[in-house]
Amino acid sequence: MAQDSTIYLIDDDEASRRRVRGMLEGAGYLVQEGSDGRQALGMVRDGVPDLMLLDVEMPVMNGPQVCRIIKGSQGFPFFPIILITARDDMQTKVDALQLGADDYLVKPINQAELLARVKSMLRLKKLQDELLRANEDLKRMNQRLQEISTVDPLMGIYNRLYFEKRFRYEFQRASRYRSKLALLMLDIDHFKRVNDKLGHQFGDYALKECARLLLDSVRQVDIVARYGGEELVVACPETNLEQAMIVAERIRSRIEAHRFEFAGKTTPLTISIGIAVFPGEGIDSLDKLVTKADEALYRAKDEGRNCIRS
Ligand code: GH3
Ligand code: MG
Ligand code: MG
Ligand code: MG
Repeated sequence: MAQDSTIYLIDDDEASRRRVRGMLEGAGYLVQEGSDGRQALGMVRDGVPDLMLLDVEMPVMNGPQVCRIIKGSQGFPFFPIILITARDDMQTKVDALQLGADDYLVKPINQAELLARVKSMLRLKKLQDELLRANEDLKRMNQRLQEISTVDPLMGIYNRLYFEKRFRYEFQRASRYRSKLALLMLDIDHFKRVNDKLGHQFGDYALKECARLLLDSVRQVDIVARYGGEELVVACPETNLEQAMIVAERIRSRIEAHRFEFAGKTTPLTISIGIAVFPGEGIDSLDKLVTKADEALYRAKDEGRNCIRS
């Protein structure tokens, strides 16, 4: 017996509908009837069938018109359509298939042929559904993979690998359009002590919190990433030294003012920041930009931490 497949049976001839319905229900299918093309479209908008049997000759809107609309529009999900023709000539059958119908039947309908074609079309529908599902799984997995390969799992910001790719791109853009590209290197001060004193879990929480504060302090177009353990980077396109200083100071003061609190423990934190801007004195390549920002960070550390150097 046939599973609970729903078949829309669209035919303006009531007697014909009753006959076909009897055959289909006898085989265990669920049947919903419609008597013209416009009704058929309404039914499809309310719920997609597993299969549609569609009479060619109908008032208001005929079978071929309905078929063209359903098969020709992205708005409708796939389901097979069997056109039912009254004429058994080659041209009519060819026309039916050319309209996008998946199969055709000729009136008067023979029960064995009807059930065989219905069964084959439902198999097609099942395969198509499986394909769609598999495709969606694949899309989801690809998205997940993309995320895993670009985002740091602890901090929820870009990882170094992805940063370097984006940074190269921004560097090329800045070179070509002669715009400024600022690079901020950040390192949390005495973070080892935080881990030692308050535990690794607190350390992890603090890193997450720093990433959040950082994201909150920069523009959408700036690229924020985890560069190493507790080292972060921000690339700011179209940003000169003066503007980069403002961004850095915003970050520095926010972290200094923030109350880091986790599992009943709390500690203040500070961050040191090194800035370099391309193009600048002695900064004519991507490598030099990175080196200069790194050197500036070391100076910030040497000169007391919780400060910004360029
Ligand atoms: P400085 O002010 O000179 O930067 O001192 P520091 O202690 O921050 O510098 P150092 O680089 O010696 O220490 C970095 C610490 O960051 C050591 C390491 O355990 C910690 N760390 C790195 N990655 C993680 C992480 O994913 N989670 C936690 N909890 N700690 C981390
Ligand atoms: Mg008809
Ligand atoms: Mg540190
Ligand atoms: Mg460090």
